Amino acid sequence: MAITYCRTLASASTRGAMLFNMDANIHLHILASGSKGNACVVEGPRGSVLIDCGLSRRALFARAAELGIDMGRVQALLLTHEHSDHVSGVTVFANRFDGGLYATAGTVAGRSYLKGLRFTTFAPGDELEVAGMRVRTFHTSHDVADPVGFCFECGGDKLGYCTDTGVLTAEAREALRSCRILALESNHDVNMLKTGPYPPFLQARILGKGGHLSNDQAAEALPSLICDGTETVVAMHLSEKNNMPSIARRTLEAALDGRAKVVIAAQDAPKSVL
Ligand SMILES: [Zn+2]
Ligand SMILES: [Zn+2]
Repeated sequence: MAITYCRTLASASTRGAMLFNMDANIHLHILASGSKGNACVVEGPRGSVLIDCGLSRRALFARAAELGIDMGRVQALLLTHEHSDHVSGVTVFANRFDGGLYATAGTVAGRSYLKGLRFTTFAPGDELEVAGMRVRTFHTSHDVADPVGFCFECGGDKLGYCTDTGVLTAEAREALRSCRILALESNHDVNMLKTGPYPPFLQARILGKGGHLSNDQAAEALPSLICDGTETVVAMHLSEKNNMPSIARRTLEAALDGRAKVVIAAQDAPKSVL
C-alpha cells in the first residue's frame, strides 16, 4: 500500500521532515487543448474518464489511437462547462457510449443539445466515484452558468485539472494542492493579449474574472500548489494568438525553480503525461 504524505512548499520550514511516496496510478492523455477543441483522458488502474469532448468522434478516436489509448476503458464523460470548444462532440460521442455522463445542471441547461442526453448532474463541490477513482469537483470562475474543475485521486496518486477560469477560486486552490500531475490553464501572456489582434471587448473578457488564466496567474499560484511529490505541471489551453509555448514554459519554470517539470499541452499534438 502506498504511503502518501505530500507537504506543500508553502510550509518550507518543515521540509525534509516528511515522508513522500506517491504511486503513479493516474495518467493524463491530452487529446486536444485550446480554443479550437478540448478533450483529455484520465486513465486510472480500473478504467478511464474522458474530460470534455470538443472534438469530432473521428478526431477523438484517431488521437487516442495515436497515443495507444484504449477508448473501450472509458467509463465516464465529465464536462467542465458548456462552451463549444468543450462540448461540440458530446452528442455524437454519447450516442455510442454506454458509460456515465456527468455535468453540473448549469452546464446541461446551457446547451440545448445537452438537455436531451442522459446526464447525471452534480453540484460544484460534490465528490464522485468514477472508474475506480475519487473525483472531487470544484467551482471555477468562467462566464458560464456552473463551470467546474476536477481532482482525481486513486491509490495515493492525485491529478488536478483546471482550465477556463479567470481566477483561481479558493476551492480550486484547495483542491489542486499537492498533486503529482497538475494540469493548469496558462492561456495567455498579458502583454501579447493587450498588443495582439483581439478587439478590446474580447481582451477585457479574457482578462476578467470570468475569462482565462494567464501565464503569470498560473505562475503565481504554483508555489502554493505544488509539493515534493509534484512531478509535472501541464500548461493547458494556450491561446494560439496571445501566447507562445516558449513564454508559457519560461514563466512557469521560473515559478517552479526546478521542483517539477513543465509540459505544454497543444491544440493538435496529443501528449501523454504518465
Ligand atoms: Zn475553452
Ligand atoms: Zn470556456
